[in-house]
Amino acid sequence: MTAPGGSERLAREGPFVKRADRIKAIPPYVFAELNKKVRAKREAGADVIDLGIGDPDSPTPDWVVERLAEAARDPSTHHYPPYEGDREFNAEFAAYYRRRFGVTLDPTREVYMVSGSKEGIAHLIWAFVDPGDFALIPDPAYPVYRTQTLLAGGIPFQMPLTRENGFVPDLARIPEDVARRATIMFLNFPGNPTASHVEKEFFKEAVAFAKKYDIALVHDAAYVEMTFDGYVAPSVLEVDGAKEIACEFYSMSKPFNMTGWRMGACVGNEEIVYKALGIIKTNTDSGHFVAAQKAGIEALRREPFAFFKKMNELYARRRDALVDGLRAAGWDVARPKGTFYVWLPVPPGYTSADFAMLVLEKANVVVVPGTAYGQFGEGYVRIALTVSEERLREAVRRMVSSVSV
Ligand SMILES: *Cc1c(COP(=O)(O)O)cnc(C)c1O
Repeated sequence: MTAPGGSERLAREGPFVKRADRIKAIPPYVFAELNKKVRAKREAGADVIDLGIGDPDSPTPDWVVERLAEAARDPSTHHYPPYEGDREFNAEFAAYYRRRFGVTLDPTREVYMVSGSKEGIAHLIWAFVDPGDFALIPDPAYPVYRTQTLLAGGIPFQMPLTRENGFVPDLARIPEDVARRATIMFLNFPGNPTASHVEKEFFKEAVAFAKKYDIALVHDAAYVEMTFDGYVAPSVLEVDGAKEIACEFYSMSKPFNMTGWRMGACVGNEEIVYKALGIIKTNTDSGHFVAAQKAGIEALRREPFAFFKKMNELYARRRDALVDGLRAAGWDVARPKGTFYVWLPVPPGYTSADFAMLVLEKANVVVVPGTAYGQFGEGYVRIALTVSEERLREAVRRMVSSVSV
């Protein structure tokens, strides 16, 4: 007989150590499950068209990659980086906000570098949500707002995004007692997954609401550069007085094709950015590779608007190929002015999950059930425009021939 070894312990069913109660309420991250199914299909030889994950298919601009290579050869970048971001990176961010939005930021007090907005948002929640506090969260939405609120012991209060409200939260419907107990509110426009957008007027309302109830207002601006048909998306910080109560997460991931680089910034109110997020981050991570930040500076500085224009034209052509193709087959679908998603109502008689599974099984096309983003996502699937126009046309052909509406 041998003593129980590691492999035997690992082979036992279930966890062999006690896990914290807080993780038990968290479902597996949606894309992990989806990826597993897709991998199985591909291993079986299927030609799967993945319209699931929102990750740009085009590469990072050459000049950004070149700058990283050069900066990586400079030994001064090899040390622990400053917690709050490389000074030059933060200064470039402030300069960019002035050029792009007409917003003035003090780079030493109002700009904090984050290793992707997912990281920053997750940590910011820990700085605002105590057990029992409400967090006001759009539904459907990027899952991190909700899951991190739950981890922190807070109560996510759903602001439904529906066709009736144009997928924009109706702030007047938030009950007074909930607003009083809320410490943080999330907004995301242009939005994932519904692809809805707002004008500055809505941000004015949101800022007034946040001020009235002393709520930290957080705008996730992941898609602020990804807009079409002449629409230009505002920053929440363009609103007069927004900096008294609001911050914004600007992500380099989607607009610069830099998802793998994990770079962005949290900008705005100093209390939120430095005295809340900064306290969590200085005790959690140790900043971000300085050479990558030097490359980030190059991205912000060198022709970003020309680059965005080129990318947005590409996504608009894909959007039109998808929307026109589905409409020609009688499907009811909106043509969004922002993000690289299309929010497709599922045909009558299907749930989101049934429809996504049917499309995967019969058409070898991956779409994400709307319910992955919240209960009000029922009745929709999200389609990402992250494959070529040709592949999108093929996906449409397969979808319309395998499902009748
Ligand atoms: C992709 C995405 C993010 C994550 O961005 P990173 O900067 O890559 O962490 C944040 N919010 C929304 C709504 C997104 O879709």
